[in-house]
Amino acid sequence: MACIKPVTFGKSFLGRLSFGGDLLEELNGICAAQNIHLGRVEAIGAVRKARIGYYHQDTRAYEFHEFNEPMEIASLVGNVSIKDGKPFVHAHITLTNAAGAAFGGHLAPGTVVFAGEVLVQEFHGPALQRAFDETTGLPLWKME
Ligand code: ZN
Repeated sequence: MACIKPVTFGKSFLGRLSFGGDLLEELNGICAAQNIHLGRVEAIGAVRKARIGYYHQDTRAYEFHEFNEPMEIASLVGNVSIKDGKPFVHAHITLTNAAGAAFGGHLAPGTVVFAGEVLVQEFHGPALQRAFDETTGLPLWKME
């Protein structure tokens, strides 16, 4: 059965991402600057190039795909929790190319912003810490 914790809304922030910035660094930077330890992020915009991951469940390793072309951020959704004692953004992204084809996966460092509009919403609630999960090999939330 799923394990859940109640949260309440804190502050919300709307903003513009930096041209040429690393998308994941920009999101982590907002959370660090605003001291957000728990929350959600969403964004739309465009990237100059992208790097996204696919987690192979059998080998427990990420494979990274690089897209060296301008693409639209059709959707980015993610959450903010604590990993290694710091705010950590985990985000997934859907990108579309000039033909309208979509690609997506786990947002990795190396995705470069062309333009981006972001919503960051802070939550108040129990601190969610990431820790190694034996079953999946992933750094999942400790929920006890
Ligand atoms: Zn992921």
